[in-house]
Amino acid sequence: MDALTQVAEQGAVPVTHYLAGDRNAELAETGRAQAVCGRIFLPAALAAPLGRPCPLCEAVVALALAQDPAASAAAARRA
Ligand SMILES: [Zn+2]
Repeated sequence: MDALTQVAEQGAVPVTHYLAGDRNAELAETGRAQAVCGRIFLPAALAAPLGRPCPLCEAVVALALAQDPAASAAAARRA
């Protein structure tokens, strides 16, 4: 798991999802990116106000960090 980017999903309640670091390249190339929970986002979502964290994204990130302490340390250094 590389550095994470936050992305907002607008709706009745705004939700903040997480994109893995390599998804930024995907966004630049294809014009859309997929959050770690599976949701697809357009570039405009990156500029929208952030809402409450997506529970699914948080679970995926927590699981990845638990399984890979080295990645956790890398993420902490970038924070
Ligand atoms: Zn999510």
